Amino acid sequence: MSRARSPRRPRLIVPVPLGLAPGLALGLALAGCGSVPSAGPAPVSTATALPAPTTATAPPTVAATPSGTPSGKPSVTSSASASARPSARVSTRPSSTAGSGGATSHPVIVIDPGHSGRSIRSRTVNGLLDVDYPNQPEMREVFDVSSCVAAGLRSDGYRVLLTKAHESSSVSLTERARIADRAHAALAISVHDDHSQGPTFQAVYSQLGLTVDGRHHAMWRGRGSHRTVFDQPSVARASDRAARLIARARSRAEGRPVRLAEENFAGRPPLEPGNLALVQLLTHRPWVYNELGARAGGSTTSELTVAQETAYAQGLLDGAEAAVPNGDRSPATRASLGRCLAARR
Ligand SMILES: [Zn+2]
Repeated sequence: MSRARSPRRPRLIVPVPLGLAPGLALGLALAGCGSVPSAGPAPVSTATALPAPTTATAPPTVAATPSGTPSGKPSVTSSASASARPSARVSTRPSSTAGSGGATSHPVIVIDPGHSGRSIRSRTVNGLLDVDYPNQPEMREVFDVSSCVAAGLRSDGYRVLLTKAHESSSVSLTERARIADRAHAALAISVHDDHSQGPTFQAVYSQLGLTVDGRHHAMWRGRGSHRTVFDQPSVARASDRAARLIARARSRAEGRPVRLAEENFAGRPPLEPGNLALVQLLTHRPWVYNELGARAGGSTTSELTVAQETAYAQGLLDGAEAAVPNGDRSPATRASLGRCLAARR
């Protein structure tokens, strides 16, 4: 296995004074990754697999929003109006394409390793701030895990795209979402870990969110006229089904509970407030966002062990294949994960 990055080396953690180096300050402020869950853990219950992949599908299209939307390529449309709480909606027609991934025997899975090599910020078409930043040691770890899960999926007959070519690549969240959309991915999974959180924090986030009093609520980001609601029910349901399967597989592989949870971006500027990862909001494909509590003892900088990375990779591989079955799950693929991750050190 070729190595996509330089060998790991001891890292110095240097305090950065506030007001200096905006990119660094941003990185520090966000070092907790994206992992402030809200609400309690939800039980991981029996779930069904995503719809079986079908033959090539048409691109997702945009359904009418409250203000009406031209059909055509996926877009985020604003419905800024005189309403008291204007909301844009990311919307597709209720789609039979959710969960389909192209050719029957080779479904597409997109793997999204968290973070970018440099701090980047732009605006989505709807005016939401699209922010990404480096975060080590997480960025190295999740790129390795993602690369080895990708290798495993490919050896089991899947077509796999990574949203980053290299660990140090900088790719906006908008572009990451587009990669999955263009590929008509059956499933996309974001891979993160969080060194500010201990091992009891293991989370999986879907585009459906959690139920409150038996009901689902809006999944959204942004404030004022930029407030954007995820309004793709069939995609959200497919994401929820996949999230449950991935949570179960990760629980088994990691030997500890991995729970469905919901994010809370309130009070974390420059991140937009809301409860859904931006990449999940912007896409038209089922997307599951994973976090792994990675703190070791009192250290927030100790790297994951190969065994920990392997367990994470195993759960992601098993969960993705359960969510998008293609009838070919090789034990050899699982055995190779540890070798793959060890080789990347
Ligand atoms: Zn992260």
